[in-house]
Amino acid sequence: MPDIKTDVIVLGAGMVGVSAALHLQQRGRDVVLIDRGVAAGETSYGNAGLIQRDGVVPYAFPHDPWKIGQYALNMLPEANLHWSALPKMAPWLFRYWRASTPEGIARMSAALKPLIERCIAEHDALMGEADIAATMRRTGYLRLYRTQGAFDVAIAKKKIDRDQFGVNFDVVDGAKVAEMEPHLQTGLAGALFMTQAASVANPGMVGRAYADFSCVAVVSSCAAKPAHLRPRRTATAGRCALPMV
Ligand SMILES: Cc1cc2nc3c(=O)[nH]c(=O)nc-3n(C[C@H](O)[C@H](O)[C@H](O)COP(=O)(O)OP(=O)(O)OC[C@H]3O[C@@H](n4cnc5c(N)ncnc54)[C@H](O)[C@@H]3O)c2cc1C
Repeated sequence: MPDIKTDVIVLGAGMVGVSAALHLQQRGRDVVLIDRGVAAGETSYGNAGLIQRDGVVPYAFPHDPWKIGQYALNMLPEANLHWSALPKMAPWLFRYWRASTPEGIARMSAALKPLIERCIAEHDALMGEADIAATMRRTGYLRLYRTQGAFDVAIAKKKIDRDQFGVNFDVVDGAKVAEMEPHLQTGLAGALFMTQAASVANPGMVGRAYADFSCVAVVSSCAAKPAHLRPRRTATAGRCALPMV
């Protein structure tokens, strides 16, 4: 790996690292991103691409033993536990469980609010600069509920999110859902239409476009691969100005 002089090194060129690097760069710092692979090649590549303005309240670790049992036996779609990984993950899972109290979740939500409420505006600005603004789909999304009980609980929770965090949504009954999405099976209790959310079809491409546009140097930490450097953008010019290859 070549010698590089820089103000800041960011480890991991996923969406979090790329975004942190971009913001540091905007504040006039020289930044190098280090990754064992390529920008946005892992989780930031393989996700659903939802820019979820409504996602202020983090997912809590369940405290209900029945629910924990369902997760442990892989009966729920939102998690897939590999038992062989449990010994390594256990300390982290314990901390997650301990932090998932009502007070802890309220504290985290309050801390996340200023970040999440800017998510669309932030991506809007970055996509504009990266010249991929057309890839953002401002369609919102539907959260579907099979039973009236689950639907009622969700409506009540979202009303709290609306009051506390400015999350907007429309309540849609089963007939209207069928009209909006005719491919879905009928008989659903209803849906919450999360109107503020946007999405992209290819999140990996977005992460790479941000890294490319920023021209932050991305250095592969894997010795087996050639170092992958990109020229750094100067703090004042909006273009790549310093070839480092
Ligand atoms: C199935 C699924 C769907 C999701 N859907 C959404 C969604 O719709 N909307 C949303 O906002 N979020 C979604 N998420 C969450 C989102 O994908 C993650 O929060 C986000 O990608 C995390 O970004 P990151 O930069 O922290 O991690 P990553 O994208 O995983 O980046 C970490 C980087 O660090 C590098 N790295 C790790 N270890 C080392 C090392 N030792 N040396 C060098 N480099 C290293 C990796 O190569 C990787 O590039 C989803 C997640 C999953 C799993």
